[in-house]
Amino acid sequence: MSTVTAISSSTLYASRISRVRQEMKRLSLDAAILSVGHDLPYLTGYYAMPLERLTMLVITHESVAALVVPRLEAPRVTPFDEVFRIVPWGETENPVSIVAKLLGGAKNIAVGDQMWARFLVELMTFISGATFVRAVDVVGPMRMAKDAAEITALQAAGAAADRVATQLQAGEIHLVGRTEAQVSADISARLIAEGHDIVNFAIVAAGENAASPHHHAGPRVIQKNEIVLCDFGGTMNGYCSDITRCVYIGTPPRQISSAYSVLHAAQAAGVKAGVVGATCESVDTAARKIIDDAGFGDFFIHRTGHGIGMEAHEDPYMVSGNKLTIAAGHAFSVEPGIYIPGKWGMRLEDIVVATNAGPMSMNNVDHSLVVVG
Ligand code: ZN
Ligand code: ZN
Ligand code: ZN
Repeated sequence: MSTVTAISSSTLYASRISRVRQEMKRLSLDAAILSVGHDLPYLTGYYAMPLERLTMLVITHESVAALVVPRLEAPRVTPFDEVFRIVPWGETENPVSIVAKLLGGAKNIAVGDQMWARFLVELMTFISGATFVRAVDVVGPMRMAKDAAEITALQAAGAAADRVATQLQAGEIHLVGRTEAQVSADISARLIAEGHDIVNFAIVAAGENAASPHHHAGPRVIQKNEIVLCDFGGTMNGYCSDITRCVYIGTPPRQISSAYSVLHAAQAAGVKAGVVGATCESVDTAARKIIDDAGFGDFFIHRTGHGIGMEAHEDPYMVSGNKLTIAAGHAFSVEPGIYIPGKWGMRLEDIVVATNAGPMSMNNVDHSLVVVG
């Protein structure tokens, strides 16, 4: 978890919380309560420690928002007096009863997705007859549409990931004779060296292992004449990167290079489709059609993309059935893949931000199947 946020100002958080209140009004909600997860830092700049002690932001229409926080963690909070007041609780108090009191007579309450179930279950015993809905209805649309500072942060994280991908494609990251796990550790160290605060994942999958999209880098030793899929990303100044590039060690056989041209075209079509006003599912359709038409449809076994921002995976999802309209500032991955079980796999991924001037890619390194020594 990063404690660093790219943008932190009292006016920003105040305006975000007032938008939450507007949404609450529109949805006839009396309160929103947010705990661990990313809605809380999005609205306050504060990351709750994901432990057993309760941290909770209570937003109602009546008074200033309250951040209920363990007394011993209160010093971690950067106070923004106009945005929220800090309500510290001591070790022998019951924080859930404090939250219940702050909620007053609230009956319709939005609850953050990642709040521990134990807090909600306990809260339900304090408030009878209340209805709970997911806070994603309130905060989700706000978080999806990134503002200029957020896009700048995504660009910086993307550029840092691109520098590592460039090192991979230049053959600076040694592959042959090393295990996937060693290469994964190497990529992780380079993500940090290029400016990330934390590494979220570094998938390295060689040969037949690349047919498993979320393969866990393991003891398999990488050899000549195979494909190596690398999918990695981290968090930098509070915003995430995520990129996939494949390299081939030696000259790729015809079957692999021709499949890769299909993948390359599919990914480009997906990016091109990611325009303001289009549906999320149309991005998936655009990429999938090319893979289907080439006869690989059964081997593209996942959605085309996911949203990205403070979290590596968040709304909106580029998947068949998602009729949500893409708006300016929506940030998402376009990452089709072709996976032949027992043989090989390949995926190509960029992060894209939809803008009124068209899709803007956060990743700009070579999209081809680069041959390394
Ligand atoms: Zn994935
Ligand atoms: Zn990825
Ligand atoms: Zn991704």
